[in-house]
Amino acid sequence: MSRPGTRPPGPAKARTLSSRLWLERQARDPFVLAARREGWRSRAAFKLAQMDERFHLFATGRRVVDLGAAPGGWSQVAALKVGEMGRVVAVDLLPVDPISGVVILEMDATAEETLVAIRAALGGPADMVLSDMATPATGDRSIDHLRVMALCAQALDVAAALLRPGGAFVTKVLKGGADRDLLVAIKRAFGDVRHVKPPASRQDSREVYIVAQGFRAPR
Ligand code: SAM
Repeated sequence: MSRPGTRPPGPAKARTLSSRLWLERQARDPFVLAARREGWRSRAAFKLAQMDERFHLFATGRRVVDLGAAPGGWSQVAALKVGEMGRVVAVDLLPVDPISGVVILEMDATAEETLVAIRAALGGPADMVLSDMATPATGDRSIDHLRVMALCAQALDVAAALLRPGGAFVTKVLKGGADRDLLVAIKRAFGDVRHVKPPASRQDSREVYIVAQGFRAPR
């Protein structure tokens, strides 16, 4: 994922057709332009803000974990919404530039030691676990799908380990294919589960989000 304001790689004539089309689309995209104008690190910030508008996910003082946080748009939104009394822990394989009020862990969200580090940084059970984790697209739809769904399953494990009863989980999934088992597991763990396509999510992308609320802590 490129950061707004960074230069595209290589001279214009060396660009492939797909990267040229991508650059043209970025230049026209109203959410890319708004993110630059308003200082959000990614257009993805609008997706989380739109889900919050619809589901009232945040409140001041909440503890929030953001998995797959780079470059930091969701964490910026979360930090703003939970305020100084809240706590946001951002996790990514990639570095994330500092964000006021956010503890940043440059770690693999799926590793056991990361769970220990998140717990230490949170200082109590999480009210919400967010996952926008994704791997770079391979071009092979079925491989991309399996990878995103595997990350989603791992994010669910992290959420189940960290959430307080009644807590919430928001995760990216891809439309179609083998996500039935995962959906069953999410429905078992949460009282209210919705699929959402926020307006800022590109209409031609297969990405959708699951907003799961009312975590049922295992007895
Ligand atoms: N929500 C972010 C924002 O608003 O700026 C954008 C997230 S970007 C779409 C997906 C991120 O998931 C990438 O930065 C990638 O490094 C991260 N990611 C993928 N696998 C991961 C893993 N196992 N652990 C931590 N982060 C991971």
